[in-house]
Amino acid sequence: MNIPFLDLKSNYNSIKKEINLSMQHVLNSTRFIKGPFLEKFEKDFASYIGVKYCIGVASGTDALHLSLVALGITKGDEVILPANTFAATVYAILYCGAKPVLVDVDERTHNIRAEDIEKVITKKTKAIIPVHLYGTTAEMNLINKLANIHNLSVLEDACQSHGATYGNKKTGNLGDAAAFSFYPGKNLGAYGDGGAITTNSLQLATQVRKLREYGSLTKYSYEMVGFNSRLDALQAAVLSVKIKHLDAWNSQRRSVANYYTTRFNQELPFILTPQISKKHTSVYHLYVIQTKQRDALANYLHKQGIETGIHYPIPLHLQPSLQSLGYKKGDFPITESLSSQILSLPIYPELQKKQQDYIFEQIAAFFKK
Ligand SMILES: *Cc1c(COP(=O)(O)O)cnc(C)c1O
Repeated sequence: MNIPFLDLKSNYNSIKKEINLSMQHVLNSTRFIKGPFLEKFEKDFASYIGVKYCIGVASGTDALHLSLVALGITKGDEVILPANTFAATVYAILYCGAKPVLVDVDERTHNIRAEDIEKVITKKTKAIIPVHLYGTTAEMNLINKLANIHNLSVLEDACQSHGATYGNKKTGNLGDAAAFSFYPGKNLGAYGDGGAITTNSLQLATQVRKLREYGSLTKYSYEMVGFNSRLDALQAAVLSVKIKHLDAWNSQRRSVANYYTTRFNQELPFILTPQISKKHTSVYHLYVIQTKQRDALANYLHKQGIETGIHYPIPLHLQPSLQSLGYKKGDFPITESLSSQILSLPIYPELQKKQQDYIFEQIAAFFKK
């Protein structure tokens, strides 16, 4: 059996008619930038997340960057974020000329913890970026409480958590603003790059609307130096179709995750599986297990036709591109040790029961040897 890590083809095939029709509407209208297709999706997404405003932009990276600019983050400011995240979270801070301050993560949830954030707050700290890693919400109540006390902005990196909940709210509605990515492999993915910012603040929403379009709300009148970062109409049309399926897809991901977790607990209890607190519903963007035999297991699965991933194999503070931050090996021991033990198994709505069985049985076969 050959099981890819991601299967965008099966997903497309399952909604082909709707997608083709929707894209054809855009082509016929030739309203490629802004216009009704973008406005419709922004409305759809704001209402899905439960916020007042959604602003489409060109990528998740831009969503982070423009949010930080709109929050007023600039040179000399410090922004706190987890060491265990995707490079774009750090880059967005650097684009503003601000200083990223990394914090190690919890070894079981892999997310940032409020008590560790508190230790690195200084007079220069202006914002916190909690990342809802792998589709599981960070401890937002504690993080927001801390942010309130110290008068800090909270920008959620929700690029992996479309639809995840915390209490009775969705991620994207838990801070001052949130950044989403619609990269094709995300739970809600476009057919190219795309992103969005969600917020309940009219002031932030207006600021981001200007920033994504050269710093202007009225054509050829510029209030500030802005960017060109728009979610184009073809992507918006794709996303308006896909958002109708998102809850069903997320629930299919959850049943794959429950299947894995049940079998691991019963048959291979020494494998650490994702830990989700009862307050949360994870949307399992990734299903990440932990084992000291990670590399041997990944190799074995590859030989059996099963592709896996590692999120992430090299911690950010050890990346050549981020040496200027001044961190060294040993600074974030949990993130470092996770990077050699974590393995992401295939998880997507279209993953068939017999594929799930095969994956688990091959893992069990590896540990029997
Ligand atoms: C995907 C991702 C991003 C960046 O999104 P792009 O759309 O690829 O720019 C940022 N942060 C996290 C945690 C991500 O997973």
